[in-house]
Amino acid sequence: MRKLLLLTFILSQFVAAAQPLRTPAEIKNFTQPSSYEETVKYLNQLDQYSDLVAIESIGKSVSGRNLFALKYSKPGNRSNQPKIKVLIQAQQHGNEQSGKEGALLLANELVKPEYSYLFDRIDLMLVPQVNPDGSEKNVRRNSNGADLNRNHVIMTEPEVMALHRLFDKYFFEVTMDVHEYYPYSEEWIKQGYLKNSDVLIGLNTNPQIPATIRDFQKREYMPFWTEYLKTRGISNGTYSPGGPTEDTYIRYSTFDINDGRQSYGIQNTFSFIQEGLNGDDSFVQNLSHRAYSQSRGMLALLEFVYRNGKEMKKIVREERKKLISPPANEDVALQMEHVADGSILRLPVYSYFSKSDSIIEFKNFRPVVKSTLSIKKPFGYLFPASNTELVNWARRQGFETIPLMNPEKFVFEKLAITAVDSIDFEGDIIPCPQVTTTIISDNISLENYVFIPTAQLKGNLLVIAIEPQSELGLATYKQFGYLMKAQTVYPVIRVRKAESKTLTIK
Ligand SMILES: [Zn+2]
Repeated sequence: MRKLLLLTFILSQFVAAAQPLRTPAEIKNFTQPSSYEETVKYLNQLDQYSDLVAIESIGKSVSGRNLFALKYSKPGNRSNQPKIKVLIQAQQHGNEQSGKEGALLLANELVKPEYSYLFDRIDLMLVPQVNPDGSEKNVRRNSNGADLNRNHVIMTEPEVMALHRLFDKYFFEVTMDVHEYYPYSEEWIKQGYLKNSDVLIGLNTNPQIPATIRDFQKREYMPFWTEYLKTRGISNGTYSPGGPTEDTYIRYSTFDINDGRQSYGIQNTFSFIQEGLNGDDSFVQNLSHRAYSQSRGMLALLEFVYRNGKEMKKIVREERKKLISPPANEDVALQMEHVADGSILRLPVYSYFSKSDSIIEFKNFRPVVKSTLSIKKPFGYLFPASNTELVNWARRQGFETIPLMNPEKFVFEKLAITAVDSIDFEGDIIPCPQVTTTIISDNISLENYVFIPTAQLKGNLLVIAIEPQSELGLATYKQFGYLMKAQTVYPVIRVRKAESKTLTIK
């Protein structure tokens, strides 16, 4: 009898394992999102279910919850081509449930035999829930009250640090950051419209990210993504904040590098942001369709990368080679603006006038980001070792530091803030200093400094973060506000090769 019971038990386990899994929200018929506990259990089940996938803990949230990644990788390589590495992450904002639910649906889809071919060419890391603390309370921010998707430059939050440790371990060539957008603003409704695309897509917009990457995204990915979703009954568009009236210009989303998309993009990565439609209860309304739409958007990316990965990998390899080489007289954009190029945005909306889906045309559309202030990329920067705030920031970012040999071959530039003006940054007024540069003629005691060269993957990020006139720089954050005081000497010293000084004089 005991044997029979045991056999029944083993058989029932076998049957359970052979049946396709369902996400926690699917089991609850999407009346509630998947809780953290349920999500952890489900991810472990997936790990047990398929050899293709392995669960990994990548860090902990502020409240001590584990942050999980699922690694999809097939052993062996029939094509003999090195695989392309893709990172998809969701729910940095805890009240954007469809990102997580879409990722959990995708996680299960990908273990099905019909998608197995993807992993002949792709290694995928999927982080379904970056902000479990926020998710449990359905709030945007983490337990420190920080907006994680504005934290990738100052990098003070453990969730964001965990993401970048993961990135720095694998150097993904393609990333997607999954969010939700909120179309229910008074202004839009007053004008009679509601943006109602199931999903929107945003590409790299910072002009420092190579044009080869940005053009490929626009030319190749956009039409593919649009068609892929349309044929699956999912409405879509480009992520275009601004409006609704012609008084407020409309543009592609921010060029700032403090978000999950461009913090990877600035390391010459194909990075995308996907924005699913939020429910107007900001929670579970229509969650089943919202999650499904998000998961198909993620699948579209994987299918595209499967088809184009070889070319994408080559572009990334060549562009990153430039980043890790010593600077070759190139410019780094520090201030920029959105400008028109004569094109008109045709935006799909729901119209309260006709009570149907409609298209509105925006003439005040500014799709191009133009640099308005740039600097010749220096060889590196000297951080005073005594400035623990700056040195700890550099450590959190994981910059490579090297000893600066043969100081006589370099020119050291001291920066002084003479006054602080203000400039327009995407419609907000932010402070901007006036800076004078003088060449230091005395010997510098290099042992009192940490040297960070710009010839590294995060080299452009370093310049953009540390230059005092950068509108995306450290000095624009409250924590580093002391860097931008009038009549003070900037603590960081700019280092250039001596011959570049001769070049300037010529
Ligand atoms: Zn978001």
